[in-house]
Amino acid sequence: TPTNAAKQTITVIRGDGIGPEIMDAALYVLDAMDVGLQYEEADAGMVALEKHGELLPAATMDSIRRNRIALKSPLTTPVGEGFSSINVELRKRFDLYANVRPAKSFPNTKSRFPEDVDLITVRENTEGAYIGEGQMTSEDGQIATLTQKVTRKGSERIVRYAFDLARSTGRKKVTVVHKANILKSTSGLFLKVAREVAAQYPEIECNEMIVDNTCMQLVMRPEQFDIIVTTNLFGDIISDLCAGLVGGLGLAPGANIGADAAIFEAVHGSAPDIAGKGIANPCALLLAVGQMLDHLGKPADATRLRAAIVATLEAKDALTPDLGGQGNTMSFAKAIASRV
Ligand code: ATP
Ligand code: MG
Repeated sequence: TPTNAAKQTITVIRGDGIGPEIMDAALYVLDAMDVGLQYEEADAGMVALEKHGELLPAATMDSIRRNRIALKSPLTTPVGEGFSSINVELRKRFDLYANVRPAKSFPNTKSRFPEDVDLITVRENTEGAYIGEGQMTSEDGQIATLTQKVTRKGSERIVRYAFDLARSTGRKKVTVVHKANILKSTSGLFLKVAREVAAQYPEIECNEMIVDNTCMQLVMRPEQFDIIVTTNLFGDIISDLCAGLVGGLGLAPGANIGADAAIFEAVHGSAPDIAGKGIANPCALLLAVGQMLDHLGKPADATRLRAAIVATLEAKDALTPDLGGQGNTMSFAKAIASRV
């Protein structure tokens, strides 16, 4: 039909554990927003293993390749099923080089910084210490080694991503986090390339900070940060630190972005302990929807969604138990949907 032809299709992966519950909630809100998206469901994780005999079926890969955008619930990777993590496998196969993790203080959430934090960590996702190459433990088990790899190309595209993100979202400052004083080759190359890229964005303030100092500064004065860009290992640690600053995983979204595909998700896992009870907090996935709308060039809709989430938290309207509320996943989603 003509209406559908005008709609953009995204791949939807309902996932495992609480995944289907929070996805229902997220799509309920997205439908209420009426932003012209339609969904193509694809299986991955335990559900896919049971239905199709594999964790990451070819049809799912094709769907993501075709639509280029996926909204994904948490997936469980059973031990001994081919790869160590489906999420890592997806990042590898689609070369999703940028892991983008916003951390923002929200009202009525347990946080040490109730209003000061509004930052985004941009983590390089394909190289650095996590390439898995050169990992060796000597035969006697006394010496372990690991190869790190940083490339000009990898550094350039992640730093460029961070500055473009600053431009497109109206943010003012990018902090390049490194350890070039000690890791002179790898972190040194990253910093050198970052300076070159920063020079091409004169309207955006750029500063450099050593990773250990960054951790201290984040805990003492998080309001000084806007966008942080860094290599894989530092980014992994810092992005979780930042999630902790604003009250933990229940409100932490993440995006994995490559040149040909982007996958948006909640940072938390499948939470089997509360699966099926209808009480999971859908906020992290909804905030990932906000990131997706920004990425799709719909910033006004992303802002509208985030404002509805904030207003619902402020009103303490039908919040889930993890936020101290008496509501459930769907009541929370409906309260948000009524404000979009
Ligand atoms: P996985 O094996 O998939 O990582 P997990 O149990 O480790 O699953 P986490 O997300 O790491 O899942 O959950 C850690 C704790 O936080 C659990 O007690 C879980 O119930 C809780 N939790 C995680 N996500 C949510 C959510 N969206 N709403 C409420 N509680 C959550
Ligand atoms: Mg976990």
